Amino acid sequence: MALEAAKIPRSMLDGHMAESIQIVEVAPRDGLQADPADLTTAQKIELVERLSAAGHTRIEAASFVSPAAVPKMADGDAVMAGVPRPDGVSYSALAFNTRGVERAVAAGADEVTGVVVASETFSQKNQNASIAESVERWRQVCEAAQAADLRTSVIIAAAFGCPFEGRVDPGVVVDLAEQLAEPGPVEVALADTIGVAVPTGVAALFASVADRLGTGGPQLRAHFHNTRNTALANIAAAIDGGVRTFDSSLGGVGGCPFAPRATGNVPTEDVVYMVEEMGFDAGLDLDALIATTGWLEEQLQHPTPGLVAKAGGWPGANA
Ligand code: ZN
Repeated sequence: MALEAAKIPRSMLDGHMAESIQIVEVAPRDGLQADPADLTTAQKIELVERLSAAGHTRIEAASFVSPAAVPKMADGDAVMAGVPRPDGVSYSALAFNTRGVERAVAAGADEVTGVVVASETFSQKNQNASIAESVERWRQVCEAAQAADLRTSVIIAAAFGCPFEGRVDPGVVVDLAEQLAEPGPVEVALADTIGVAVPTGVAALFASVADRLGTGGPQLRAHFHNTRNTALANIAAAIDGGVRTFDSSLGGVGGCPFAPRATGNVPTEDVVYMVEEMGFDAGLDLDALIATTGWLEEQLQHPTPGLVAKAGGWPGANA
């Protein structure tokens, strides 16, 4: 009986409704974009189907940026045309300009995500634009997406560190968050694109951004890479700071093709295990996620870095 009780999440033992944590699944885009494998459109669609079946309600499914810059994502229109469209599942697509928004609308995306990089050198390499130009492009993207009734979110990439310039001044990120919030997106996300952040820095930066944006503004969201094995600790710190929406990638696939050695998104199943045991409800089927990680490894033809898919969930009878 002790074992049986132990594997029941604390939230259920308390007899209270668990508070929700929302996971945005980024494997089909941020994950696959940086993986050495080239999945077919049909494999990408099946991945999205499996993620949706495991309970995901927000899936980053496509990128409508220049196909020349990101050839792996060139079939975004075809992926979007083939994915299931159950009620309650929102598909997001990256767009860096109004042409990208037009493609996202035509493809039936529910949400448009912009990206602005917090360091000048990385911005030039990733976006082929200065930070100021990217802010202006984001305003146009956000307004075009709002005009089409799409949900809008913007990611501040390299918010903690830059592969070329090193540490990023938190004051720059806070100012940037304020500028990006001006057109009224639903969310502003801080991304540790190269996986250098630690919990104290995460807590401090989210607190500063929340303070600057105030109440009634965009929700905050976090995007961590596990490059230096700090992503789960950073998520716990962000949860303590009130953040309730996190990006993660099944199996931990992905990185960023423009950031040297930025391997490994935080693995979805590792995040789900942790937050559920902390008493939150992620609304996801951990067993289905673990099974899908196995399927994904077969498609990619290489192992993935997540640990919960290897260890399994809470051990014991019927676990
Ligand atoms: Zn990422």
